[in-house]
Amino acid sequence: MTDTASIQRDERGDWRPANPIVLAPINNWPPNPKAITQWLFGWPGYLWPYNAFWLVAAIVTWAFLTPSLQAMQSIEAWWVGVLLARNAGFILLLFGGLHLYLYVFRAQGEAFRYTTRSFAAGSSRFRFNHQVRDNMFHTLLSGVPVFTAYEVITYWGFANGFLGYGSQGGASVGFWLWAVVLFLLAPVIHSVHFYFGHRLLHTKLLYGRFHAFHHHNVDVGPWSGLSMHPVEHVVYFSTVVVQWLLALHPINALYQIQLAAFLPALSHSGFEKVMMGKTFSLDGGSHFHYLHHKHFECNYGGSLVPLDRLFGTYHDGTVEADAAMRERLRARRQALRKVKTAYL
Ligand SMILES: [Zn+2]
Ligand SMILES: [Zn+2]
Repeated sequence: MTDTASIQRDERGDWRPANPIVLAPINNWPPNPKAITQWLFGWPGYLWPYNAFWLVAAIVTWAFLTPSLQAMQSIEAWWVGVLLARNAGFILLLFGGLHLYLYVFRAQGEAFRYTTRSFAAGSSRFRFNHQVRDNMFHTLLSGVPVFTAYEVITYWGFANGFLGYGSQGGASVGFWLWAVVLFLLAPVIHSVHFYFGHRLLHTKLLYGRFHAFHHHNVDVGPWSGLSMHPVEHVVYFSTVVVQWLLALHPINALYQIQLAAFLPALSHSGFEKVMMGKTFSLDGGSHFHYLHHKHFECNYGGSLVPLDRLFGTYHDGTVEADAAMRERLRARRQALRKVKTAYL
């Protein structure tokens, strides 16, 4: 498959999609029922395939690939090892599979890719001087252990009645209705937590020490998604703490952790669309986050919750948004200069 006719690249090989990024229609006023219904249920919609798919993954993981809560009452090496191995397997399958599909087998060539540049090789910015190996190293040796550790604490907490308010009955309708409510809320929780955690990591104090690791990846691929400093992994996966406070069943916490662990593969794919045959494609919010890697100072969150729009950091991918972002940064520099002059 080659580039479609609509894809025009600049002299650097970069491509800007013709259509601006749009936020989820629930953020628009007045509400448009048709657009909301299409967004919820159409392909690829909010409920299907993305979240329903990950929900099924969480249910299967819980039912077949997780030891019983009874067995996890005390922390023992064997079950921690089981969780670690299965999580490493998931990541290799998903991140590795997507990387192989897009960049090794080149299943769709350069079609819908934001840039034609190759991943960095021979660059001292990266461990082993190699972007993909560096990204795999940080993902597998830090990302997987950190989110497994959160999972271990979760199960141990539930098994001992420290979490879930001691409620392990699970028989009542209310219990399961609450679980469904939390399933629906999990992507929102992920978005909000990611936005504020991410802004925190962009502060002067934390950026250079920790978050810069992730931003070594200007041109991203699936393995860049979880390529972070261990401290950033601890911050990023702490989204599950919200479920520690709310959930009655550990599967809600597992779903929350898995969303955080799995979504970055697609959101860092480097492609506007991942084609599945000629008809179907997946868009995991890739352009939204791609712009963050390109410009650093915009799109800290996602398109589900309009926090970037609220805080003036939203970039919809258009030339006009480029200009607005430059103006915002210029005004901020000017204000900082004024403060410095006034106090020095
Ligand atoms: Zn990123
Ligand atoms: Zn960032």
